[in-house]
Amino acid sequence: MYKHSATNLLHLPEVDVSEWLNSFDSIITDCDGVVWLFNNPIEGSVETISKFKEINKKVFFCTNNSTKTRREILEKANRLGFKMNEDEIISTAHAAATYLKNRNFKKKVFVIGSEGITKELDALGIDHNKVGPDPITSNINQYVSEDLKLETGIGAVIVGFDEHISFPKLTKAVSYLNDPECIFLATNTDERSVTPSYVIAGNGGIVKAVETCAERDAIVIGKPNPYICESLIRDGIINPKRTLMIGDRCNTDIMLGTNCGFQTLLVGSGIHQFDHVKALLAKGTEEAKKLVPDFYLPKLGDLFKFL
Ligand SMILES: [Mg+2]
Repeated sequence: MYKHSATNLLHLPEVDVSEWLNSFDSIITDCDGVVWLFNNPIEGSVETISKFKEINKKVFFCTNNSTKTRREILEKANRLGFKMNEDEIISTAHAAATYLKNRNFKKKVFVIGSEGITKELDALGIDHNKVGPDPITSNINQYVSEDLKLETGIGAVIVGFDEHISFPKLTKAVSYLNDPECIFLATNTDERSVTPSYVIAGNGGIVKAVETCAERDAIVIGKPNPYICESLIRDGIINPKRTLMIGDRCNTDIMLGTNCGFQTLLVGSGIHQFDHVKALLAKGTEEAKKLVPDFYLPKLGDLFKFL
């Protein structure tokens, strides 16, 4: 078996691959940067996922993206050629709604985010505000003295990625959160998405803004919080000791694997490449070690030839 050390954290040596493949029977993989990049599958990923299923590995797609429902993520996966089922999709919008449902939540939710979240709340019969643009139309003095209208009965705030984030939304969220009984959930804290030509600001910045002004920390539903996989483990669907986590980001995907006791594989087709892992190893702190994957490959499709 492979043991984690600085020296084996490279491409899988061919001789040991069948033994390694036998060491896990479930795979949880991140989506963006691992199986697809925006609207295109990453070369070899469709074939590799399909081969995993052929050799009886359970495969789950696990995304921190809160802008889509599970069904919409499923539709995207299948449109790109992956043959997945809805119960193989783990998403933060669905998990946030489920978190409230499991606590018998009966009040109304104030959502900063998109319809990915509100549709999942609707599916569970949980009331919420309407999402979309909420810009300031005047100036702060007029806004706070006349235009700001707070709703009654808000019992939770969910913060997900919101392309219409605005001063009014932040002000409303922190006003509701001033009540210590108000539940504060964040779907995820990803910092950014990177393309060859630009960097897209992620939900982490929005969550930080609300946390700072609310003077409270959110319960983060998404990776690296084990909550996102808890029901799979509790219901015996996966055995953590025989699960492989695949991701392109060390501080969410790999950290989730470390937190849950999974094996971890970093692929270099998204956010973090091998240079980042080397920097973590050089740091050598306990915190940095938790972010170091057991294995590294440039892309998921590189596994196909071993399967
Ligand atoms: Mg990713």
